[in-house]
Amino acid sequence: LDKFKSGLSKTKKFLSEKFSEIFEIDKIVDLKTIEELEETLILADVGVETTLALLDPIKTKILQGETLTVKELKSFLKEQLISFLKDTNKPFPPPGNPSVLFFLGVNGVGKTTTIAKLGKILKNNGYSVLLVAADTFRAAAIDQLKTWGERIEAPVCALQEGADPGAVIYQGISYAQKNKIDVVLIDTAGRLHTKYNLIEELKKMVKVINKLVPQESQENILVLDATTGQNALSQAQHFSSAIPIHSVIITKMDGTAKGGIAIAVSHKYNLPIRFIGLGEKPEDLIPFDKNSFVSAILP
Ligand code: GDP
Repeated sequence: LDKFKSGLSKTKKFLSEKFSEIFEIDKIVDLKTIEELEETLILADVGVETTLALLDPIKTKILQGETLTVKELKSFLKEQLISFLKDTNKPFPPPGNPSVLFFLGVNGVGKTTTIAKLGKILKNNGYSVLLVAADTFRAAAIDQLKTWGERIEAPVCALQEGADPGAVIYQGISYAQKNKIDVVLIDTAGRLHTKYNLIEELKKMVKVINKLVPQESQENILVLDATTGQNALSQAQHFSSAIPIHSVIITKMDGTAKGGIAIAVSHKYNLPIRFIGLGEKPEDLIPFDKNSFVSAILP
């Protein structure tokens, strides 16, 4: 919880300063307070849609003449925010021989680093892991994953630059099956603005995975960068409209005062958050706990 709080300190500082101004008023909440709250939440990247969904019920109450104390408002907000953050019953990693974690996200969000951090965490918890370099577009991407493999002492499955990503995935999963490796973590390409169709390519990769392991053993994880704010929301839209996304990891939460993006993504796209990144070191990838998160941002 301490780590959570310090990692989220920018968001916490931004929100708690604003909140303390807003909540300073005497006891009874009026429409002006709600408007200020609305503005603050939107500035913290909670997103217009999610902010309105959160505050409209309160507005209605006030308009109907109900009186609401600041204390009641706060506990209502806490409860609602927690319910906006989606849960999943699926164990992590999912059961399988092997289980397959398929990582998606645009370049630069922290996908490769996250795979390495998670590989290390899984290893520390007794799982054997294999990293698969399915971003075959850039030689640098393949090299980066190999370097991480060495650093965390995990095998890496890679082919040459330009190879078919499906072929690398096929080889990787087959290798894991033969060698009884518990978890396969697949790194993918993330170029959006080229003629090359990333989504079509990713769909093909999903088909390869589907042929090799049952659905319940797979988790397609979308990696989003908290510092990109509303862009993260449009990326969630872009990927989830084409490929089944099962969960999200939000990186760089330490670098932003706009941690509200976690709530927006989870609420709008019905996606559970598995981990958040609070720094560049392996121990900075923290399992997401919605109660701690809401307590950290709402004083
Ligand atoms: P990819 O292109 O999506 O694979 O991105 P990379 O894994 O190469 O990461 C891009 C940069 O983001 C690197 O410098 C990482 O160290 C950094 N990064 C990743 N996660 C975090 C995080 O949670 N916090 C911070 N501050 N930096 C991060």
